[in-house]
Amino acid sequence: MEARGLLIVLSGPSGVGKGTVRSAIFENNPFNYVYSVSATTRKKREGEVDGKDYHFVSREEFEQLIQEDALLEYAEYVGNYYGTPIAKIEENLAAGKDVFLEIEVQGAMKVKQKMPEGIFIFLAPPSLQELESRITGRGTDDASIIYERMQMAREEIDLMQHYDYVVVNDKVKHAVAKINAIIMSEHLRVERV
Ligand code: 5GP
Repeated sequence: MEARGLLIVLSGPSGVGKGTVRSAIFENNPFNYVYSVSATTRKKREGEVDGKDYHFVSREEFEQLIQEDALLEYAEYVGNYYGTPIAKIEENLAAGKDVFLEIEVQGAMKVKQKMPEGIFIFLAPPSLQELESRITGRGTDDASIIYERMQMAREEIDLMQHYDYVVVNDKVKHAVAKINAIIMSEHLRVERV
């Protein structure tokens, strides 16, 4: 019988660069992870593709997914819903494929309750100062929002203790190598081979 795939959850505070690291992993994707495409009510950004980056849905459609219990988890983040459709996850894990989620921390904690066998990786900033300069550097937020985001980031960093691994995002290339190494080692655990 083929071994079940691994559920990999990459999370971390807002502004740490989860999206950038995830895109870099999926640029070549040498280990054929299956990306779990989330549903969201936020507007599509330029260059994003429906069904590849996200399933872009209306609030009504999202609430329907909640009603139908079609989501493994969901969270409201900066005024929009984000959620992980469950059907594909089960299907791919059963087929022996590794499924990769990139989600914010509230959602990751809910996944941890439902699927504690997952591999939970916390992407951390090199320092809080560095995170602040990344959040400020986006140039999109005013001072009170930056303050709020930093406050949130501090609370999110406190949740690191619930994860299996921590990867500091100093250089994207290094973070990618470390994440692939973690997943590779998990496959080599005696109880899995
Ligand atoms: P963005 O709008 O920049 O694409 O994503 C905003 C945040 O939502 C990021 O921290 C991203 O990791 C998170 N996110 C994306 N998809 C999901 C999801 O399905 N569930 C949860 N809880 N967070 C998500």
